[in-house]
Amino acid sequence: MKIKIWGARGSRPTPLLDEQVKNKISAVIQRVQPRDLVSPAARERFLASLPPSLFGTVGGNTACIQISPRKGATILIDAGSGIAEVAAQMMRSLNPEREYHIFFTHFHYDHVQGLPFFGPAYNPNCSVHFYSPIPEIRSILSSHMQHPFFPVTMEEKMARNLQFHVLDHRPVTIGSVTVSWRELNHPGRGFGYRFEEAGRTFVHASDVELLQSDFEKTPENRRFFGNADAMILDTQYTLGEAIEKYNWGHSSFSLGVDFATAWNVRALYLFHHEPLYDDAKLHKNLQLARWYAQRLGNLELEVYISQEGMEITP
Ligand SMILES: [Zn+2]
Ligand SMILES: [Zn+2]
Repeated sequence: MKIKIWGARGSRPTPLLDEQVKNKISAVIQRVQPRDLVSPAARERFLASLPPSLFGTVGGNTACIQISPRKGATILIDAGSGIAEVAAQMMRSLNPEREYHIFFTHFHYDHVQGLPFFGPAYNPNCSVHFYSPIPEIRSILSSHMQHPFFPVTMEEKMARNLQFHVLDHRPVTIGSVTVSWRELNHPGRGFGYRFEEAGRTFVHASDVELLQSDFEKTPENRRFFGNADAMILDTQYTLGEAIEKYNWGHSSFSLGVDFATAWNVRALYLFHHEPLYDDAKLHKNLQLARWYAQRLGNLELEVYISQEGMEITP
């Protein structure tokens, strides 16, 4: 399977601000030397040498992850504002996907707000399947897409193309991928998903405020979290902030490193970025997370920051 990140921001969409763009440009200008401008190749080398916090951005769209199985239709996790970009890309495609399977972690705004802009759900040639363990999935999703919040309703304009699936404890198979789920500690209930294909595993655990019980070596925990090749984990805060925001439903990046270490995860992707953190702060947190993994003696753990457009092959 291939995974693509379309939105990694937590809580609310977070466009780059004018001042942040100016700061990036000014930091780049301070670094440039005359020799970096002598040829197109030199300019390319200079740009490639810039830190990712200057030449790029983690992006401001809220949660949406795409999984493309080796065989079978497109899977999405959540419909935050990033899902509108999935739809836009499909519109540009010469051979657009016609079948989508969207797994909802929960229904907070940052995980559903892009749904009204997901073009395939309006297209009679497409079918869109929605999944959640919450039995009221249909009424919950349609209640947020109606007058006066949006000019067209889900029931009028999408319903013919939609199918709703309430998950029980049996895994679901989509093409070559098997999907299982478990409940996570988050206000109003939230769910993590584990995707397996040909011996490779990807775990999506967001939103979650990790509990001591998530670290316990029970068969259930081991089955769900254990030995993931890649894990996207809610690491919204620094440790200090996570303590201040106890019970808000999110975790710190340092606890995330502890967690990935406890469950022998190969690659950890920090996710659900705090809207108040700019690219510089997020990349600093990434460096601290890597440093902390080394301090723990976990030299095998790879730590990355989820960024829009990033592709992952678990
Ligand atoms: Zn969220
Ligand atoms: Zn939430």
